[in-house]
Amino acid sequence: FLSIRNLRKAFGAITAVHDVTLDIPKGEFLTFLGPSGSGKSTTLYAIAGFQDPSSGDVELEGRSLLAVPSHRRNIGMVFQRYTLFPHLTVAENVAFPLRVRRRPEAEVKKKVADMLALVRLESFAQRLPGALSGGQQQRVALARALAYDPPILLMDEPLSALDKKLREEIQGEIRRIHRETGVTILYVTHDQEEALHLSDRIALFRDGRIEQTGSGEDLYLRPATDFVAGFIGNSN
Ligand code: ATP
Ligand code: MG
Repeated sequence: FLSIRNLRKAFGAITAVHDVTLDIPKGEFLTFLGPSGSGKSTTLYAIAGFQDPSSGDVELEGRSLLAVPSHRRNIGMVFQRYTLFPHLTVAENVAFPLRVRRRPEAEVKKKVADMLALVRLESFAQRLPGALSGGQQQRVALARALAYDPPILLMDEPLSALDKKLREEIQGEIRRIHRETGVTILYVTHDQEEALHLSDRIALFRDGRIEQTGSGEDLYLRPATDFVAGFIGNSN
């Protein structure tokens, strides 16, 4: 479904991603796990189209995405501080990607209602983002990212600014949304507990390469290297 082929990204003398190759089946929840600076976000940005890779390719259903501009890739995104539009209501924030795509008003209304129900924020539709908690804002960001039915959802540490209780609550929400929508999710975190809890599969990054890919159980019980054993075993 989604293929990352020999991806490399250099910033001047620094090579952030050396060589990443990965096949992601449709509907999978895949997590990029690894220490700070290991190339997780850089790989995600290449998929999103925020940054062109130095070499390698990203393919969706056999077609290269590299020539497709970021806004045409139909990829939903939620980031750590993904700012909502502060002057737009919650409902208008969620409607935004649909308005950009000039969808008919009746469809927009229905979709916004469906998405707010999905993240359980129906009663917040007419509020401004400033009147919501951090966790509620992240749920609105999630609703907005899913509003136009993207086949792929990218999330880069979407919960790291939240406290433990909220984080666990929204983790549950994300799992439920994955189950209910079947969207393919690429999730970035440096928190191994979060990765083990959420993912079908984990790609463990180290210095711009993938050290091991497998289920949480694989990495935990059958680590390929000492690095994997150390990273999965320790709470960092
Ligand atoms: P973190 O967990 O801290 O977010 P990460 O795994 O997402 O880390 P990246 O952001 O992908 O790491 O960065 C990988 C490497 O590339 C780091 O050494 C970083 O300093 C470098 N890097 C990232 N973006 C740039 C940039 N725009 N210019 C120069 N170097 C960069
Ligand atoms: Mg990062």
